[in-house]
Amino acid sequence: MDFWIAIVVATPAHSGVVPYLTYQSERALAPGSLVRVPLGAREVLGIAWGEASAPDNAAQRGKTKSVIASLDGLPPLDAVWRELVAFAAKYYQRSIGEVALSALPPQLREIDTAQLARKQRRQEKRQSTLEQVALQTQKNSIEPRDLVALHNEQVEAITQFFSKNTAVGAPHNTGIDSAIASQPALLFGATGSGKTEVYLRCVQEVLANSPDAQVLVMVPEINLTPQLEARFRTRFAHLAGAQALVSLHSGMTPAQRLTSWLAAHMGVARIILGTRMAVFASMPALRLIIVDEEHDASYKAQDGARHSARDLAVLRAKLCSEMNDAPCRVMLGSATPSLESWQACLQGRYQRLSMPTRVGNGANARVRVVDMRQYPKKTLFAPALLAAILDRVAKGEQSLIFLNRRGYAPVLACDACGWKAACPHCSAFRVFHKTDRTLRCHHCGLTERVPRACPDCGNIDIAPIGRGTEKIEEQLATALGIYTSADAPGLQRPDGSAVIIARMDADTTRLKGSLEVQLAQMHRGEVDILVGTQMVAKGHDFRRITLVAAVNPDSALFSSDFRAPERLFSLLMQAAGRAGRDATLAGAQMWVQTYYPEHALFTALKANDYPGFAADQLRERAQAGLPPSSYQALIRAEARSQEAAQAFLHAASHQAGTVAAFERVTLYPAVPMAIARIANVERAQMLVESHSRTALQKFLSDWQPILRGCKTKGLIRWAMDVDPLAI
Ligand code: ADP
Ligand code: ZN
Ligand code: ZN
Repeated sequence: MDFWIAIVVATPAHSGVVPYLTYQSERALAPGSLVRVPLGAREVLGIAWGEASAPDNAAQRGKTKSVIASLDGLPPLDAVWRELVAFAAKYYQRSIGEVALSALPPQLREIDTAQLARKQRRQEKRQSTLEQVALQTQKNSIEPRDLVALHNEQVEAITQFFSKNTAVGAPHNTGIDSAIASQPALLFGATGSGKTEVYLRCVQEVLANSPDAQVLVMVPEINLTPQLEARFRTRFAHLAGAQALVSLHSGMTPAQRLTSWLAAHMGVARIILGTRMAVFASMPALRLIIVDEEHDASYKAQDGARHSARDLAVLRAKLCSEMNDAPCRVMLGSATPSLESWQACLQGRYQRLSMPTRVGNGANARVRVVDMRQYPKKTLFAPALLAAILDRVAKGEQSLIFLNRRGYAPVLACDACGWKAACPHCSAFRVFHKTDRTLRCHHCGLTERVPRACPDCGNIDIAPIGRGTEKIEEQLATALGIYTSADAPGLQRPDGSAVIIARMDADTTRLKGSLEVQLAQMHRGEVDILVGTQMVAKGHDFRRITLVAAVNPDSALFSSDFRAPERLFSLLMQAAGRAGRDATLAGAQMWVQTYYPEHALFTALKANDYPGFAADQLRERAQAGLPPSSYQALIRAEARSQEAAQAFLHAASHQAGTVAAFERVTLYPAVPMAIARIANVERAQMLVESHSRTALQKFLSDWQPILRGCKTKGLIRWAMDVDPLAI
């Protein structure tokens, strides 16, 4: 007797292939089973999705290929996982196969059955010892005396979170309404209010409640938060065994990722710590999801389905609670929540947990907005700021100076003929990097040595215009008298040793391990002044910083991207939060140099008033009909020429009138993207907007076949981005 099985395989995004392919199998295969199947000339990984109807006739039956092997050692992917994938595919307008297969670790796609069996045997051996250890440790989990005493706001936040569901991890027989049990929570906690400690306690509570419960902790960029991983490892060291806590992020080798994935899938891993990719990990006993720094843009994927891992985390918790017999909660955390999440709190859809106070009652950094109009043009540092930095140096404290552009200067130009160092392949200027005297394109990577003279007119006076982190570092060192000749002592610390200035950005951290080295130097207090891009402003717990300065944040105030102010405010609040984390060091300051000191954003920043800023922004967005008051999708097209890219979008737009829900969406004209050309590819985009998410969804899915049918000469590819973050 033969079985006909619907199987999903990795299909290209817009191939238009039916969602499932039918294969023949000698035995029944449970939905979620992993299989190897023939596809064309190849053998690929597939996932059994359900039964398929038998082919109509003998001829078709004869043509239907058979499943080659089933990866029997692996339990099937559970219903929640499949539902999550199916939802993501539908919502982000992709094929189930594309989303499902890209959600699996790449090595699982390549490995054959025998190799997988060997790998599993090795992991199983470890697992059995692990289980024994786990059994012991569950009886005597962490002794409370090992822990710091929580402060009142932490206690309150945790109590409120669990009061929605007193027994997360336990079966539903407590009679809890699953709608309430699965309500997402937003931990709105100031920087340094002890959010991480709250996460740790919640994780501990959930794990203690059930011997098999799993938790997922997501962070924006795991490389930037080795501290968090270390804190979790220390706290949960009692869950002994290499795999009780596993990581999942793109910095891992394919073999490591498969090992972590298997540990999560088999239920051995109790804590999964990962970046956005981890939202798709298979976790059959998932009971809690934490999304740290939920506002961070890196939760939104910039390729593939372009999913938002934060949004999918919320959905996953809901699906888990509805489909399993145990609830799963989700906690988003931020000092500056995304306006989407904040609005959800205001509307009562999310539970809000507030922790406004810093641990140890450390005062918030005092914000000083410096009016740069009083100084000559091109002034890099206000004299008062320099004095303040010197003051910190004299006290042996650290300063953090940031600017959102790496390199020395954004453009190199010739005064005589007006030549500028443009990138030949992109519609952008190449950035001058002084250290290695190169011109580098930050979009396509093209790197060339700086010409000795203007390539157009031969003038040797070509000069850098504008400023980047390299220049800030150099000029600051000069202004403070740090760099000196061998016989003249430079600026000194109280103990007589030399003051050290360092820079941290994508250029200085390119080599593997260099970021860790630089962070460690900073933590040990070896660096007095750290200059960097926004990379330095995020999340680090440097203890001795008492001064943070944003040198030139103005461009974000007038960006064409309506989310730019939201991002700037969040960045400045985060940056301010780096100062004064050690409550014993008084007088923490956050300096902002600007030509628009009256701007409302700075007023809110001074008052440390996120709710006020958010209220303003939400009002403006509502008036302008922008998210979160409306829903958007972008269609992006790439082509050999800008005309071709736009022609495709025009064609798609012309044919949209026949599509369902057309009258409920607004289609904007096609425009070139902000950087219209990258690596010789021209890019254009078109915005679709609606006040109804359902209408937008309906429109997009019915429009898909039309887009696939638009054959434009010169078109390279197109893609949909649902809920785009950058317009
Ligand atoms: P956040 O994530 O909100 O910025 P953290 O969780 O990093 O804040 O906490 C800031 C600092 O305060 C950390 O060094 C942490 O160890 C410490 N801390 C947190 N909670 C407490 C507490 N209840 N008592 C003492 N120190 C605490
Ligand atoms: Zn010239
Ligand atoms: Zn380029």
